[in-house]
Amino acid sequence: MTKEIRLATQAILDHVTPTPTVHNGLSDQQKVDIIAGHFKEILTTLGLDLENDSLKESPTRIARMYVHEVFKGLNPEHFPKITVIENDMKYDQMIVVRDVTVLSTCEHHFVTIDGKATIAYIPNKKVIGLSKINRIADFFSRRPQVQERLTKQIADCLTHVLETENVAVHINARHYCVISRGVQDSHSTTITSDLRGDFKRLVETRSEFLSHCTTKTLGLEL
Ligand SMILES: [Zn+2]
Repeated sequence: MTKEIRLATQAILDHVTPTPTVHNGLSDQQKVDIIAGHFKEILTTLGLDLENDSLKESPTRIARMYVHEVFKGLNPEHFPKITVIENDMKYDQMIVVRDVTVLSTCEHHFVTIDGKATIAYIPNKKVIGLSKINRIADFFSRRPQVQERLTKQIADCLTHVLETENVAVHINARHYCVISRGVQDSHSTTITSDLRGDFKRLVETRSEFLSHCTTKTLGLEL
C-alpha cells in the first residue's frame, strides 16, 4: 500500500514568498458587502445609471467575483488539499506538466494576465498527483499578481511539498494591461522562469526542460 501523506496548508504557505497582505478579520460576506458599496461609488462616479436593469446588480456581481473567484487565492481556506505519496517506485526522471492554465490579475492595473505554465520536478522521496500541480498554479494565480512573484510562489510551494530543490516553473503570458492600454501591443508575451537545483545547475537538465517549454502542443499554442 502506498502511503498518502496529507500536508497542512499553513505550514506550506509559510514557505511561500508572501503576497503583501494585511489581515483585516473580515468574513467573505463582509468583504462582498463592502466592495459592492465601493463599486457602486466607482460606477456612479463614472456617470453610469445604476437604476438601469443591466447595471443594477453589477456592484454585487463584481464584488462576488472578486472574493469568490478571481481573488479567492488570497484566502488560505481555498488552498487545494495536498497529499504526497512515497516515491516507492524510485522514479528519478523529470516529470513535466505542460500547458497549465494561468489566469491571473495584474496587481498594477487589475486586468487579466492570461498564460500557460510548464512545471517540472525530479522526484526525491515524494511524488504528487499531477492535477495537484494545476491546482497549486491556479490557487496562486487567483490573487492580484506580478508574474515574477506568481512564478516564485508556485516554485516555492512545490519545493517545500516535494522536499526537493529540483523544481522548475516557466510561465509565458499575455498581460491585458499591455494589450488594452499603454503601449497597446496585442502580440508580445512575457516569459518568467524559476529554475532550481539540477534545472539550474546542469546544462542538460536545463535544456531538456526548456525544450518542453518551447515546443508547441498541437492546438494549444499560446
Ligand atoms: Zn499591469
